[in-house]
Amino acid sequence: MSDTMYTPKDPTTQYPRPPFPPQQQDGPGDSRKMDPAPDHGETTYVGTGRLPGRKALITGADSGIGRAVAIAYAREGADVALSYLAEEQAEAEEVAELIRAEGRTAVLLPGDLQDEAVDQQVVADAVEGLGGLDILVINAGTMPTVDSIDDFETETLDHVLKANIYPLFWLTKAASPHLKPGASIITTSSIQGFVPSPSLAEYAVSKAGIANWTRAMAQQLIERGIRVNGVAPGPVWTPLQPAFVPNEKIEEFGSETPMGRAGQPVELAPAFVFLASQESSYVVGETIAVTGGSPTH
Ligand code: NAD
Ligand code: MG
Repeated sequence: MSDTMYTPKDPTTQYPRPPFPPQQQDGPGDSRKMDPAPDHGETTYVGTGRLPGRKALITGADSGIGRAVAIAYAREGADVALSYLAEEQAEAEEVAELIRAEGRTAVLLPGDLQDEAVDQQVVADAVEGLGGLDILVINAGTMPTVDSIDDFETETLDHVLKANIYPLFWLTKAASPHLKPGASIITTSSIQGFVPSPSLAEYAVSKAGIANWTRAMAQQLIERGIRVNGVAPGPVWTPLQPAFVPNEKIEEFGSETPMGRAGQPVELAPAFVFLASQESSYVVGETIAVTGGSPTH
């Protein structure tokens, strides 16, 4: 039998371990410039029919975790609308190509989600392009590092909250009239929302807010048969990292985890598949940690 993602093996050596080569990018970053190349499942994710005919909107779907989720969802049988920033068009088109190669529909939706009107348009265009909506993955995020309170700037916090928190409300409000019982909303929090690093206070408070919102909104929407859950990743090899984290930390990226290495985007995808699929029917308001062993509580 050939080696697949389901073949048991030692997870500690399954993917690259630090040190990583020094590298830095400007935000939002580009996965194609990363060394080593991240694994989003392009050649490794094997679907087993867990999302037949479902229609999903994923934000931050051009790169990193969102890209891996988009590929996984298509391989599980879903049609996928991709939300991303306009400057990420080339990466988004690569993802769309992979979705279409599965015989599934891909809808491309560039736009900055820091504006409620854009969020409303993205949902409307996803519903129109897919012919409905069953799964909403609110995954886009930004992560400025600020080492000292002396360098705190109101603009930075406004930006983090507009990008990481407001779209939870805006996208969900716009999507909810279209979501039927059995639909699923999935957020991306972070280990930073539970165990914050000193230089990520603005980001960490937004990620704590996402996990908290997930618990609150889950209680509202379960009355309509809609489940809301989240995923809290540990360190994952995505462009967010070289775009926002200083070099000396990039070289050691992931070494602090019990696993001793960073996660790859494809290793996050199964949690998003599980939460979108009916197999998780009794899981509500939960944020699943995928951290390589670092405790979140
Ligand atoms: P990524 O850079 O590949 O993905 C983030 C995406 O967010 C970008 O591709 C971009 O399309 C989107 N985005 C950012 N600002 C936006 C805006 N204003 N409007 C529209 N889209 C915007 O990196 P990633 O690591 O895959 O990030 C995905 C999510 O995972 C983020 O919420 C991030 O906070 C979270 N996360 C990442 C890690 C990690 O170590 N990489 C750890 C924990 C949580
Ligand atoms: Mg990107």
